[in-house]
Amino acid sequence: MRNIFNYTKEMLENEFIQNGYKKFMASQVFDWLYQKKVYDVNLFSNINVNNREYLGNNYSFDFIKIEKVEEDEDVKKFLFRLLDGQKIEAVLMYHDYGTSICVSSQVGCNMGCKFCESGRLKKVRNLETYEMVQQIILASEYAKVRIDSVVIMGIGEPFDNYDNVMNFIKIINDPKTMAIGARHITVSTCGIVPKIKEFMNLGLQVNLAISLHAPNDEIRKKIMPIANAYPLTELIDALKEYITKTNRRITMEYVMLDGINDSEQCAHELSDLLRGMNAYVNLIAYNETNNIEFKASSKETIDRFFDTLKKRGIEVTVRRKFGNKISAACGQLRSKEM
Ligand code: SAH
Repeated sequence: MRNIFNYTKEMLENEFIQNGYKKFMASQVFDWLYQKKVYDVNLFSNINVNNREYLGNNYSFDFIKIEKVEEDEDVKKFLFRLLDGQKIEAVLMYHDYGTSICVSSQVGCNMGCKFCESGRLKKVRNLETYEMVQQIILASEYAKVRIDSVVIMGIGEPFDNYDNVMNFIKIINDPKTMAIGARHITVSTCGIVPKIKEFMNLGLQVNLAISLHAPNDEIRKKIMPIANAYPLTELIDALKEYITKTNRRITMEYVMLDGINDSEQCAHELSDLLRGMNAYVNLIAYNETNNIEFKASSKETIDRFFDTLKKRGIEVTVRRKFGNKISAACGQLRSKEM
């Protein structure tokens, strides 16, 4: 039995029609779930008993559970327990301009980035679409806020779970569900080139962020195994094609690792690499973890790196840090639990 939150409205309509039910029932179901926030099919009072029975017999309305919440003034970090007992995380952040949530796309991750906590625990499985949708519903209900933007930057590699993530995006973007604007949704990938190409042809106005983290293959291969499969020239070519096709700017994430990718020379190489591209660099202060040998670059080093990029005409921002007091770094809550 598939969970009802796996379905886009169109998918549900098609399935109803195929089974001899009215297409319109999908709108009614969506209204109960996403507007009235009623999750017990027996309470869907404008749907007759026979149809409610069909829904109850053919679709699961089960929810994942909030296992634990860690809070700081500008952040709430959720640990969720899935129906099979697996655990994932999401982080809700409060900005001046609204709220954003960082959701997970897999249980664990197989990309093996050396500095990343999520990858220490190998991928167990992909998340189903409903498990991503419900992270947002539960966080929003717990915090009693509307979620304004969504970043798919939690545990997992979204382009290694492409179909489920695309359905997730379609659902939360639907005006009849959460109406999260495409420009308020960001998917972040370590650079799986064939999926970037597929994604650019979808015509969604969703933001793309790339975990670049190095200005050349030599450094990138040391910290990101994916660089062996897709060298930088291939990645950059795909991104240039993406920019031309979609006319959208790309975010280049660059986590500042002490002595690894934070030299002046790296800043110059990065500027050369990105010159003329409609892309901006988002410098990320590394969240140090107990388990791994990487250290964060100093504030001065980050400032200097920032200045060099600026001087070289590259657009650059430094990502704000949330929840220093709690285990806010990617995957830390989950790996602490395991
Ligand atoms: N797999 C996807 C999305 C999840 S990781 C991707 O690679 O983009 C989200 C971002 O957090 C990536 O840029 C990742 O490199 C970065 N990251 C991982 N561990 C981190 C840490 N300890 N501190 C700061 N950023 C980290």
